[in-house]
Amino acid sequence: MTRLLHRKIGAPLPHAVSGQGVTITDSAGRSYIDGSGGAAVSCLGHDHPEVLAAMKAQMERLSYAHTSFFTTDAAEELAERLTALAPDPLNWLYLVSGGSEAVEAALKMARQYYVEIGQPQRRHIIARRQSYHGNTIGALAAGGNAMRRVQFQPILPETHHVSPCYPYRDKGPDETPEAYAARLVQELEQKIEELGGDQVMAFVAEPVVGATMGAVAAVADYFQRIRALCDRHGILLILDEVMCGMGRTGSLFAFEQEGVVPDIVTIAKGMGGGYQPVGGVLLSQQIYEAFRDGSGLFQHGHTYIGHPIATAAANKVVEILTRPGLMDQVTHLGTRLQAGLDAALGQSPHVGDIRGRGLFRGIEIVSDKDDKIPFDPARKIHAGIKAEAMAEGLLCYPMGGTIDGVHGDHVLLAPPYICTEDEIDQIVERLARAI
Ligand code: PMP
Repeated sequence: MTRLLHRKIGAPLPHAVSGQGVTITDSAGRSYIDGSGGAAVSCLGHDHPEVLAAMKAQMERLSYAHTSFFTTDAAEELAERLTALAPDPLNWLYLVSGGSEAVEAALKMARQYYVEIGQPQRRHIIARRQSYHGNTIGALAAGGNAMRRVQFQPILPETHHVSPCYPYRDKGPDETPEAYAARLVQELEQKIEELGGDQVMAFVAEPVVGATMGAVAAVADYFQRIRALCDRHGILLILDEVMCGMGRTGSLFAFEQEGVVPDIVTIAKGMGGGYQPVGGVLLSQQIYEAFRDGSGLFQHGHTYIGHPIATAAANKVVEILTRPGLMDQVTHLGTRLQAGLDAALGQSPHVGDIRGRGLFRGIEIVSDKDDKIPFDPARKIHAGIKAEAMAEGLLCYPMGGTIDGVHGDHVLLAPPYICTEDEIDQIVERLARAI
């Protein structure tokens, strides 16, 4: 009997009681390798002594102080750390308590920026189909995942969607990556022209699409062309790194591998490593100056932003993420994970694509490999894989296809960066058995 409203009503769930390194144990004594870090959250595993010590020290000194009265050493240090790590002109950090809040704040930042600089007519947001940017109403509107939106339509009329960069399904067999990128950017340009170039405020995208597509990275050139197009029309580029950021792809920011710098970047999940709900928005000097020289206020805020314990946890997590060798380890383990998945599943008639970057890997499941035909969604292949994987003692993050474009079921893997090679091999073996 439960009095908790769970997302899936009526589904009985095991009770998690402890976490050790990359393992979670339930009340029946069963342990699971956390092959997905929850939802790409637990980047440092579950009982990292240094993060726990940083939280304990903060908790013993001060648990809460409202940001309208105080800042804290931890918040200042975290802002210093992240802005030093981010390329110019991302010089300012706004703190929030999670991914949706980060996206929501980013959208309001973009909107207020244009109001401050005297272009209040810019109010349209363009994002991509099949994307997910959070569950609050603004973030949900930006997201292009039709399944999640359908019951809430109409959401915000100023949100529009173009095709994602999805080479497995959309790049023609004879099309070069450059031509494919050019075609997608042309589609975006048409959308901008349709709305009016001076009416659009932001283009929002994940550098590597996580939850809704399964670790789909863009082709080379794509984001550089997007950046150039945004610059031509004075549109802000918002990159959502809530899932793919904080070292997940082998660089602290996923956009570093695309050769672009956004105007705004959202981070969360790995930023607190699951120890505390925390997120952030890094914004450009230009946006900061518009606020400073305009109204002198960012018209936004929540009770728990900059929470001392959350900030202390994030400060320690980010410090650990930037220690020498850790990103190389993510790249090394990610290559091993991809090779293991290729060897174990590459020949399977139902595995269409295995892809991703660093410790962020996706497997797309199809019923017909040659024609890339998905399974009938009613079969809920993803739910079956999740249950089988749990029975094998593995946590992975599968999702169903989409009703907005063609997409098979997929499984997302995002294990902690502290995995051993043996644990990576175990993830592959257990997942292969489950599939
Ligand atoms: N953006 C992206 C890219 C995400 O993957 C998610 C969560 N899966 C969010 C935003 C929303 O984050 P949260 O669940 O912390 O609100």
